[in-house]
Amino acid sequence: MTTVIERFLHYVKFDTQSSEETNVLTTPGQFKLADTLVEELKALGLDDASVDEKGYVLAHLPANTTKHIPPIGFIAHLDTSPDMPGKDVKPQLIENYDGGDIVLNGDNNIVLSPKDFPELLNYRGKNLITTDGTTLLGADDKAGIAEVMTAIDYLQSHKEISHGMICIAFTPNEEVGRGADYFDVQRFGAEFAYTVDGGAIGELEYENFNAAGAKVKVQGRNVHPGSAKGKMINAILLAQEFIMKLPTDETPANTEGYEGFYHLTDIQGNVEETILNYIVRDFDINSFKRRKDDLQQIINDLNEKHGAGRFSIEIKDQYFNMKEKIEPVKHILENAEKAMNEVGVVPDIRPIRGGTDGARLSFMGLPTPNIFTGGHNFHGKFEFIPTFALEKAVDVIIKIVEIYTAK
Ligand SMILES: [Zn+2]
Repeated sequence: MTTVIERFLHYVKFDTQSSEETNVLTTPGQFKLADTLVEELKALGLDDASVDEKGYVLAHLPANTTKHIPPIGFIAHLDTSPDMPGKDVKPQLIENYDGGDIVLNGDNNIVLSPKDFPELLNYRGKNLITTDGTTLLGADDKAGIAEVMTAIDYLQSHKEISHGMICIAFTPNEEVGRGADYFDVQRFGAEFAYTVDGGAIGELEYENFNAAGAKVKVQGRNVHPGSAKGKMINAILLAQEFIMKLPTDETPANTEGYEGFYHLTDIQGNVEETILNYIVRDFDINSFKRRKDDLQQIINDLNEKHGAGRFSIEIKDQYFNMKEKIEPVKHILENAEKAMNEVGVVPDIRPIRGGTDGARLSFMGLPTPNIFTGGHNFHGKFEFIPTFALEKAVDVIIKIVEIYTAK
């Protein structure tokens, strides 16, 4: 058997950065990794492994018992974040970490320090895999891929473990929010699934934000400033009036846990026309609706004050909290929790202050909570992963399979 660590170190060598450009279906690097994984899945005996033209890898490990067991899915994503280079990743193995500073890159003085990342201290005496300070590591989500592959490898070399059908998917473009776009839930064939894409060991997530984007357009009237009295309407200043109407403490920088926010992401504008782009986030569906209503109300009030049509708003829902789709099938969560406990991992259930592909899949009919990969500091050069966490994630996947067989 190839170990999860060997697999992980192999996969991070592929540059699979996704692209924000929406006309790019997927990137060549993602295809390369996809092809490699298909070969590997076939070598493991998953004969139907394939990659489609959109870059989705699907494979099925058939049941090896006639007992009725629901088909379980495991999903990880091929791409890494466009925010940080993922080419020529040179992972470093830090053995028996002593709790001190880790010099990632002496030339550039890049240091991974427990002063900045106190969670490092949880890993004293463990082996860590870090970057060389010039790229991200790609534990997000190549750790997930390595863990799923290794669990399959284990099941194939331990045929005495009986299991139902196991459905595997490796998806493209997760980091640019398009990982679920062409996911074929039917062909995948699972009754429910887990994305293996979380952070620190123990993480288990089934609640995420409800999300919308709001575009506010302010129409001004430009005239020569020398003769503007009573005539000019400055859209920038009106936009500022809109901004000031929103609660100043309900921003990403002022909220945590289950608190929602309005986030002004960018402004483009001049005297004639100014556009504000917001994202709106809330866990509770009612207060999410209330936030959207409040935005509309502010627009109505300002139009009353400044004249009809001066302000307009376009609000688009982006994704919803998967909680409502998971709660009716809570066994998915409870069994993941049980699996963790049985392999000696303390479950850490927390809300995701963002969205996941699993959230979208849950609304496409495939309930999909998220479990840990073991990695930290995703999307940056300080990304690292303890090797024992990689191994524990494999154990959790195998244990989930066993629990459903035993039920
Ligand atoms: Zn991820």
